[in-house]
Amino acid sequence: MELASRVLSLTPSTTLAITAKAKELKEQGEDVIGLGAGEPDFNTPQHILDAAVKSMNEGQTKYTPSAGLPALKKAIIKKFETDQGLTYKPNEVIVGNGAKHVLYTLFQVLLNEGDEVIIPTPYWVSYPEQVKLAGGVPVYIDGLEENHFKITPEQLKKAITNRTKAVIINSPSNPTGVLYTEEELLEIGKVCLAENILIVSDEIYEKLVYGGVKHVSIAEISPELKEQTIIINGVSKSHSMTGWRIGYAAGNAELIKAMTNLASHSTSNPTTTAQYAAIAAYNGPQEPVEEMRKAFEERLEIIYDQLVAIPGFTCVKPQGAFYLYPNVKKAAEMAGYSNVDDFASALLVEAKVAVIPGSGFGTPDNIRLSYATSLDLLEKAVSRMQQFVESKV
Ligand code: PLP
Repeated sequence: MELASRVLSLTPSTTLAITAKAKELKEQGEDVIGLGAGEPDFNTPQHILDAAVKSMNEGQTKYTPSAGLPALKKAIIKKFETDQGLTYKPNEVIVGNGAKHVLYTLFQVLLNEGDEVIIPTPYWVSYPEQVKLAGGVPVYIDGLEENHFKITPEQLKKAITNRTKAVIINSPSNPTGVLYTEEELLEIGKVCLAENILIVSDEIYEKLVYGGVKHVSIAEISPELKEQTIIINGVSKSHSMTGWRIGYAAGNAELIKAMTNLASHSTSNPTTTAQYAAIAAYNGPQEPVEEMRKAFEERLEIIYDQLVAIPGFTCVKPQGAFYLYPNVKKAAEMAGYSNVDDFASALLVEAKVAVIPGSGFGTPDNIRLSYATSLDLLEKAVSRMQQFVESKV
């Protein structure tokens, strides 16, 4: 079968590959601890499940408008107002089948062949592939570890060409968990305004921030920056609703209209039941969101210190999301591995801990660990890694 050239260059997701290998080992009876997960380990809160069931029982099982139910848009608009002081009109919001698909749709309507999108490294694995699928060219800026993986306005300025269409800002970040401050965003925003670059602000981890810091959206800094930004968000991580597939974008009405047209020919609409669930997620009690956030923070506080005690591990302390992204180059060398990919494979096969090698995120000296699992298992996993490294040096 001759496949389209556009998919031949697709890089398969490293995250999914490791998860599959860990699953295979588990099925063979191996006691593997998986730290690869990109989703909260909590159930979707009960009131959300109840709302979904109620909507089905009431016969709400038909198509909806392509950009989402008006009631869901209203709930999202209210959330923007309450949380970020941002005002959007319904025609400036589109609901899609998860933030991932909303981003996919965005790049499809935004990019012409050869248009460039600036992606800071380390990056979420799907950004470059989605840009390439839309005919675009990913242009990487190194988010340097000494700058806590954040890009500077100078780096951004240097990367801009006459083909640059957009820059992606993901704060808090997957895989690093770092958060941009308002001042940093303001400086980045100035460059984007001066050069007329669209800011794609992926805020999917907005609700998961720690240490008393507040998440700031670049769009809330000034009306000009709001105009220059499309916000991407969703309920997957905040409300533990990964499988429901509800995400959304808010921004320029013309862009949203184009995305809606494309959605009308690709998905028709996000699943109706899931939209009713998302209405309950935003209009219902928010305590479960805070409880989950607190649980993640508690785990982070305990596990971070244990992790950096492993010989050869250093780690920028995250302020958000649920990942740790230690640099383990030294540990790999000390243990006799020439690269971190091999070290990560050995961790899986010998120490029985599944982590994601940083090569998939564009920084090959790191590994990503998710702490979306019980504290018991986390402590066991870190202690296995420690023993593994110490046994090799
Ligand atoms: N953006 C980032 C940075 C993510 O890590 C993820 C999920 O892993 C998504 C977007 C997509 O989330 P969803 O499609 O579940 O809404």
